[in-house]
Amino acid sequence: MMKKVYGVIGDPIEHSLSPVMHNAAFDALGLNAIYLAFRVSKDDVGDAIRGAKSLGIAGLNVTIPLKEKALEFVVPDALASRIGAINTIDFSKGTPEGYNTDGLGALAVLKEAVGELRNKKVLILGAGGAARAIAFYLDSEGSILTIANRNVARARRLASALRNAEPVGMDELERRIKDIDILINATPVGMYPREDETLIDAELMHSELVVFDIVYNPPETKLLKEAKKAGVRTLINGLKMLLYQGAASFKIWTGMEPPLNRMEAAVREALSVRTRP
Ligand code: NAP
Repeated sequence: MMKKVYGVIGDPIEHSLSPVMHNAAFDALGLNAIYLAFRVSKDDVGDAIRGAKSLGIAGLNVTIPLKEKALEFVVPDALASRIGAINTIDFSKGTPEGYNTDGLGALAVLKEAVGELRNKKVLILGAGGAARAIAFYLDSEGSILTIANRNVARARRLASALRNAEPVGMDELERRIKDIDILINATPVGMYPREDETLIDAELMHSELVVFDIVYNPPETKLLKEAKKAGVRTLINGLKMLLYQGAASFKIWTGMEPPLNRMEAAVREALSVRTRP
């Protein structure tokens, strides 16, 4: 039987540990499949999805900055369509079908760390594909959201689609963060190779905050380092979210239970190699 090909499309893409994670899962289950990373620019996303279908690619993940644009080239399920962004494409039925597993992954992580999310005041940095997914899930949980984005019009668009969310510009952060319970970074600021950048530093944070940076490479971002300095005790990086969203994509593609332990071990191993001096 021919090997099944899966992959992730995005730009930048070198940072992605999805190939390591999914190839470990294929290995663990003895599947004849491979997962590759493809650099695709925003202008080429339609061609890439059509091309993938023609080449018989079985499934794709979609990452920065393509999650919203890619929606135009797939048949999204109801959830992805509400969110307005996809991170997973399944080609098994001929037409490319779009799903979003990012919000599910982030919610699982937050519930593990925080428990009840109803009435929690959450500040989300970013209003792109990942931020949209997380915001939709938290809004359904009854959290009270503030969406801060560099491009405020984008934050306004997202907030207007939610029940309880207020859009703000980055200049409002200092004033807003005092009352916040949970801070989530859903921008690439701090991601490899620009690891010394953060949108918020220690002086602005209070020790009761929960700080969740969805960036997983490096595992301890500048934002998390600053949070530590401010005495924050609940620090979460993007590793578990990567794992949970990836596991959900894997299930959509294969119908099989993902080998979570093997996937997590592969990601941790890759990160320890990459961050070694
Ligand atoms: P995206 O759709 O391109 O959105 C990027 C967002 O970040 C936008 O809101 C953008 O603001 C903002 N941004 C970009 N550069 C910025 C800067 N220099 N200063 C301030 N804001 C900036 O990307 P995405 O797909 O949502 O991904 C965002 C990040 O999350 C990436 O690092 C990605 O790897 C990570 N991620 C992790 C997981 C996980 O499983 N752990 C899952 C999904 C995504 P503007 O609108 O103003 O441009």
